[in-house]
Amino acid sequence: MVRRPSETGKFKRTLVTSALPYANGEIHLGHLAGAYLPADIYVRYLRMRGEDVLYICGSDEYGVPITMTAEKEGITPKELVDRNHASIKKSFAGFGMSFDNFSQTSRAVHTDTAQAFFKDLHDQGVFRQKTTEQFYSPSQNRFLADRYIEGTCPRCSSANARGDQCESCGSTLDPTELLDPRNVQDGSPLELRETTHWFLPLGDWQERLIDLVDAHPEWKDNVKQYCRGWFKDGLQDRAVTRDLGWGVPVPLPDHDGKVFYVWFEAPIGYISSTREWAAAQGDPEAWKTWWQSPDTRLVHFIGKDNVFFHAVMFPAMLMAHSEDYVLPDNVPANEFLNLEGQKLSTSRGFAVWLPEFLEKFQADTLRYTLARNAPETRDMNFTWENFQARNNGELGNNFGNLINRGLTFIHKFFDGQVPAWSEDGMTDLDRKALAEVEADLAKWVVHIERFEIKAAIEVAFHAGNVGNTYFQESAPFNTRKTDMERCGQSLGVIVQILRMLALMLAPVVPFGMEKLWEWLGMETDLWQGGWAEGILDIPAGRALGVPEVLYPKLDDEMIQPEIERLRQLLEE
Ligand SMILES: [Zn+2]
Repeated sequence: MVRRPSETGKFKRTLVTSALPYANGEIHLGHLAGAYLPADIYVRYLRMRGEDVLYICGSDEYGVPITMTAEKEGITPKELVDRNHASIKKSFAGFGMSFDNFSQTSRAVHTDTAQAFFKDLHDQGVFRQKTTEQFYSPSQNRFLADRYIEGTCPRCSSANARGDQCESCGSTLDPTELLDPRNVQDGSPLELRETTHWFLPLGDWQERLIDLVDAHPEWKDNVKQYCRGWFKDGLQDRAVTRDLGWGVPVPLPDHDGKVFYVWFEAPIGYISSTREWAAAQGDPEAWKTWWQSPDTRLVHFIGKDNVFFHAVMFPAMLMAHSEDYVLPDNVPANEFLNLEGQKLSTSRGFAVWLPEFLEKFQADTLRYTLARNAPETRDMNFTWENFQARNNGELGNNFGNLINRGLTFIHKFFDGQVPAWSEDGMTDLDRKALAEVEADLAKWVVHIERFEIKAAIEVAFHAGNVGNTYFQESAPFNTRKTDMERCGQSLGVIVQILRMLALMLAPVVPFGMEKLWEWLGMETDLWQGGWAEGILDIPAGRALGVPEVLYPKLDDEMIQPEIERLRQLLEE
């Protein structure tokens, strides 16, 4: 029997976070493959093993892109983020994301938490104040973010360059370089005015951050390499506050119109979401155990574009706080997912959106395909043909077929009850098959605990093959005519194999495996230590459920229109 994670290390509980999705639109497949599905698989695994685990997330709702979208739609930023939050939450639920809490950064609990965090650092004198010149719009009485500024490009003289970039020649710009800078909204002229902001001197924590990375040789190579590159260049002061109307206000006197930068306040969202969860449990102080007790293991699941914020900035903030916070024990960052061999583009609509997907297809098949192609060490590709092949060939023919054949056979010839079987009655063939699947289960655990989802599924797939081969070789369809006892023994072995397969597949395809768990008559809750029952313990005589086809074949008529839609987008 493989030991539980908490029996092997110094940690008693695991706090898992997924990067907060930005509430500016819907969730697409690229999001899922990086920060969400791998985390959900890991969390479900821990729950199955009876570990103490908390899975925290929420919508990231502040910043300029949100205000711009809201203005375009003629609604307030709060209306926009509430609508998108509800939609994101619904999509995630349909996809089987099992967050313990999914909050919003526009809620009061987050304002309180982020402001208190800032105050703690401020009162210790951690921040540096700097005064810079920025564009101010006299017509609107406010400082403008780069994207609200336009003017003539100093390089190509295009009249409509944006404050941060000229689309006509592709130059990256600083707004002060623009000739005749104007307010995007009303075209009025701007003037440079002095503004004072608070900066976090990240360099002050560089040595401790280097120690943190060095203490974790097990971190993924991409994460360590990114960090060492930044350390080599030297960490710079980073502005914590900015002039903007939509954000968490700076909790100091004379701060009119100043809010926190999203990079500072969004990761604190993990803490505020945990506080919200604790309050809902009726134990408002419980969040501290998850953030401040040294026997808590903190794991951040992210995409590779988020490594700096989770391996450098947020740890520096946690180190800077006067109270002792746990630091990340791991930051599994995934690479990106491409679509039909091309980069996803949300602006061109070249993406597969989760709400539309879920109207037509099963979440399990998508989870399986994304996990099987997980972009763990390099960018990976999603194609609809691969999706179809994984469903039909693997979920259907390998796993689904074994489940269906085994259970249907027992219903047909053994009244739906697990036949009499025993260890004593086993042949070498029986023993070999069980031993192989048990060995696979042990390998599977090692992979999951290293966040190697792809390798874990390969092992499960092998176990499925072992089961199918065993079914053919032990041939209950023949022995039922010649040796009913032998036939029953084979089916007993199949049932044990199905139970181990259920464990290996459940975190990946939870909807189907919850059904299998029920058909196998398991009494424990799969997600509350379902693993702990031992392995060979489906006894003879147990009544089994009548199976249904879990993963029906996907025909070309279902798949081709999806391919066609993306092809047309590429041609536009
Ligand atoms: Zn230009």
